[in-house]
Amino acid sequence: MSKQRLVIIGNGMAGARFVEELLAQGGGALFEIAVFGDEPYGNYNRILLSNVLAGTYDAQDIFINPPDWYRENGVRLHLGVRALEIDRQAKRVIGEGGCAEAYDKLVIATGSRPVIPPIEGLSKDGVFVFRTLDDCRRIAKEAKHAQRAAIIGGGLLGLEAAYGLLKLGLETHVVHLMSHLMEAQLDATGGAILKRELERMGLKIHLRKRTIATLGQDRVTGLVFDDGATLDCDMVIVCAGTRPNVELAQKAGLAVERGIVIGDDLASPDDPDIYAIGECAEHNGQTYGTVAPLWDQARILAERLARRNPAARYTGSRVSTRLKVAGIELTVMGAKDPQRPNDEVVVYSDPSRAVYKKLIIRNGRLIGAILLGDGMTIPTLLQAFDRRARLPENPAEIMFSFAWSNIPKASETQRICHCNGVSRAKIVAAIRSGHCTVDAVAKATRAGTGCGSCRTEIHAILEAHLRETGGALAAAERVGQLRAAYDAAS
Ligand SMILES: Cc1cc2nc3c(=O)[nH]c(=O)nc-3n(C[C@H](O)[C@H](O)[C@H](O)COP(=O)(O)OP(=O)(O)OC[C@H]3O[C@@H](n4cnc5c(N)ncnc54)[C@H](O)[C@@H]3O)c2cc1C
Repeated sequence: MSKQRLVIIGNGMAGARFVEELLAQGGGALFEIAVFGDEPYGNYNRILLSNVLAGTYDAQDIFINPPDWYRENGVRLHLGVRALEIDRQAKRVIGEGGCAEAYDKLVIATGSRPVIPPIEGLSKDGVFVFRTLDDCRRIAKEAKHAQRAAIIGGGLLGLEAAYGLLKLGLETHVVHLMSHLMEAQLDATGGAILKRELERMGLKIHLRKRTIATLGQDRVTGLVFDDGATLDCDMVIVCAGTRPNVELAQKAGLAVERGIVIGDDLASPDDPDIYAIGECAEHNGQTYGTVAPLWDQARILAERLARRNPAARYTGSRVSTRLKVAGIELTVMGAKDPQRPNDEVVVYSDPSRAVYKKLIIRNGRLIGAILLGDGMTIPTLLQAFDRRARLPENPAEIMFSFAWSNIPKASETQRICHCNGVSRAKIVAAIRSGHCTVDAVAKATRAGTGCGSCRTEIHAILEAHLRETGGALAAAERVGQLRAAYDAAS
């Protein structure tokens, strides 16, 4: 049987994950695969760019699949080549430099790009956005000669960029339009506590500030606000949100709202042979800006196309995220406020210790939470949220006890590392093969190498497993030691 031709546009987190999933499910036997990726690298973990900027990761440690991986797996990668047009009549994708690929099935995974707000003078030298590895390198290079930086935008990305520059030794200002930080995920109380903690670390935060222009001729030397005030700085990073890359789909006549419209089969309603996944896709009126949904989409689309489960459907994702600023423990999930009259709200606030916890409960289940200043309860609450588990009668039990037993026994497929999409089964398999420390498990599976919030849970799985295996513990430790010694030597 001859293979069908499958083309993927976008070699970012969704596109590359989809290819991995498809190959893992035997799709290599069914499809001849070609990928267009306009970045000049193999695939890397975009989440970790914040850590690269902050200096806690080296850029080369964030690569997932180098170009060789594609070659070794029979995937034709058009590296650094932008797809310019989808010709639906001829079923062809045309790329830069005359490069073209015919397709039977096409997956669009073009992600998002930074929004550039209407501020005069953002094209000057010294102004950056923060989305790609190249952006990250440019920012780090500029920071070597700068003293004062301003970040426009006090959302998650803006704060992570600000923390990175603070760590690089710059006087760092965050300029935010709204009345509190991270207003999409936090309420005003949580935002106020976060602000105080960030200021304690050394960030300068300016709220309710609308930037209207930059100062300087060819190079930026400051910002101008609508109240007439100014702020001197040597560099500016614009972190004012993202916009899905939909232009290719739009030009090809596919339905586009904010993102490329897809159904539960992840296909465009206008063309059953064209799919969209990741940040460029819009499902049920919802676009996403985090990786957990794209892991789901990549897996389900691979199951459909590899024919392992041709009827698999995507029904939406539950979203949680964590601020990657060392010293501040902040995880948010789902709704930040009640949305229906019967939704219950349980709050614990201890501003003097910078602890703020808020749960939104509907019909006995968690539909949202803000967890600031207490990492211990996060794994349990994340699990309750992901699994839509019924909560105990007394909510205090969930807020203060992480040994809460009411969550159904964890399944093998349960995702432990949300950043890298690593399941419990994969972690247990790594432990069974002798990876007996959290670091060793991380190295073997990538679990815990994203935002790091799952490391407590990996530790718990490790301990439970080693306890269960009892007599095998010493042997496993020995294998672990040998492996560590081998890794160190190699
Ligand atoms: C600094 C930073 C920190 C983040 N931290 C977190 C976090 O902690 N947790 C979390 O869940 N999420 C985080 N995110 C968001 C996460 O990285 C995104 O949700 C994820 O990368 C989306 O994957 P994607 O494949 O849809 O898009 P991308 O990863 O952006 O990939 C799209 C790729 O397609 C390429 N492309 C676009 N158009 C074309 C074309 N015409 N031809 C060829 N190639 C094209 C793009 O250049 C890009 O390489 C972070 C993002 C950033 C930037």
